[in-house]
Amino acid sequence: MKATIVGGGVIGGGWVARFLLNGWDVSVFDPDPDAARKIGDVLANARRSLPSLYDRALPPEGALTFHESMADAVSGANWIQESVPERLDLKHAIHKQIQEHAPHDAILGSSTSGFKPSELQDGADRPAQVIVTHPFNPVYLLPLVEVVPSALTPSALTERARDILISIGMKPLIVRKEIDAHIADRLLEAVWREGLWLVSDGIATTEEIDDSIRYGFGLRWAQMGLFETYRVAGGEAGMKHFMAQFGPALKWPWTKLMDVPEFTDELVDLIAGQSDAQSGHMSIRELERLRDDNLVGMMRALKKSGSGAGGTINSHEATLPTPDFVDLPVTVSRQVPQSWTDYNGHMNEAKYQEASSQATDRFMEMIGVDATYVASGGSYFTVESHLRFLEEVKEGSVLKITTQVLSAAGKKMHLFHRMYKDQGETLVATSETLLLHMDLNARKTSLPSRAVADCLAAFVQSHSGMPPPEGAGRYVGQSDRS
Ligand code: NAD
Repeated sequence: MKATIVGGGVIGGGWVARFLLNGWDVSVFDPDPDAARKIGDVLANARRSLPSLYDRALPPEGALTFHESMADAVSGANWIQESVPERLDLKHAIHKQIQEHAPHDAILGSSTSGFKPSELQDGADRPAQVIVTHPFNPVYLLPLVEVVPSALTPSALTERARDILISIGMKPLIVRKEIDAHIADRLLEAVWREGLWLVSDGIATTEEIDDSIRYGFGLRWAQMGLFETYRVAGGEAGMKHFMAQFGPALKWPWTKLMDVPEFTDELVDLIAGQSDAQSGHMSIRELERLRDDNLVGMMRALKKSGSGAGGTINSHEATLPTPDFVDLPVTVSRQVPQSWTDYNGHMNEAKYQEASSQATDRFMEMIGVDATYVASGGSYFTVESHLRFLEEVKEGSVLKITTQVLSAAGKKMHLFHRMYKDQGETLVATSETLLLHMDLNARKTSLPSRAVADCLAAFVQSHSGMPPPEGAGRYVGQSDRS
């Protein structure tokens, strides 16, 4: 699959990374001679953060090319994403140029923050091909994309756009009726307007306004949004009670409504000066990395509960391919996230254990000890493990773990994981683990179900002819490594 990105600035660069890291070939058209360098910087941040959201490896990256002619750039494209500056005349001219050369069945998405699709379609050669696909910065991490069709957009095109966006890990929100600035930016505008007034009236500095968000409601919004948060705020009496309590306040003069402070030189200087004082000690790239690391941490927390953006990651992860295995099952194939490395610049020892534990969990699924089995009251608990650290592993390495069953009988299961980097070329660690089957209700050891025992027996049989792994049975302090 091929995507063409027309306009490779802040947003276009993010789209490049989103498609490329999900295995698409990407061509770029942007007359800025510095575009390749800027996109390279965005890609470096994306490679560091996006794979960290997942416990499975993303597909191999596609090929990235830059083109001076629009015809070359859009040739054979399945998706064309326009992200040029927010001017309607410019967007019209660029869409005309794109449609002269693009395949007729390609989707032409516009990143516009404010224009309605009918405005973009007006005067176009093939209006039905144009749709608004409005993302959020950083496009490679934030899943939301507002998909806005107009009355003349065929529903088949909207559905195809939705499916493609889901396949690259995004959360398409179909906007049912076109409106200036779609949904999210209308909300953001309201907050931005109030923020400007609070600075302009000398009530708060830029930092105090940011604090009022990030220490409080900003944390709530990321996982429950506005209405679910308020439902909870209503207590046991719920939403109706909340509305009765706070509804009348909407009529009080708490907000400035549609008035906007004039952008005088004084106000612009005041805001820019306060912003420098607040954040000027960090470069934009440093701030982006800080933002990305925090987003990854928060999104991984949401992944655990499946809330909001975490649910999108889980659904996407389930579609990522699991590697084939020849002799031994591959139980982990994942990239080492930046958060797994420590002050020595390599993977922290606890993370070797975490990866081994993921391998054990995956092997348990393979023998039928999955979520349903656990819910029915059975599971395996680890009672002993021994890790050998053989090689350093750096951020971004793709880890592969294979699992060999050394023995399994009755309640016991004895596993040996080999952890590799460099496409399985270099052994970086081994982990030997003994597990016992448990009755989760009685909290006592017990025999596994017949189905699980049979499945395990099949692995034992297929692994029985293999030589015992080098390093199996070792204990701490042995001087001889052989
Ligand atoms: P930007 O200024 O960072 O990037 C615009 C890019 O378009 C530049 O690289 C520029 O060289 C290129 N460009 C200019 N003329 C061109 C042409 N004729 N052909 C090809 N490329 C051309 O702007 P941005 O912030 O990335 O915004 C782009 C679009 O995305 C706008 O429609 C904006 O509303 C929308 N958007 C922005 C944000 C945001 O937070 N910045 C969020 C969502 C959507």
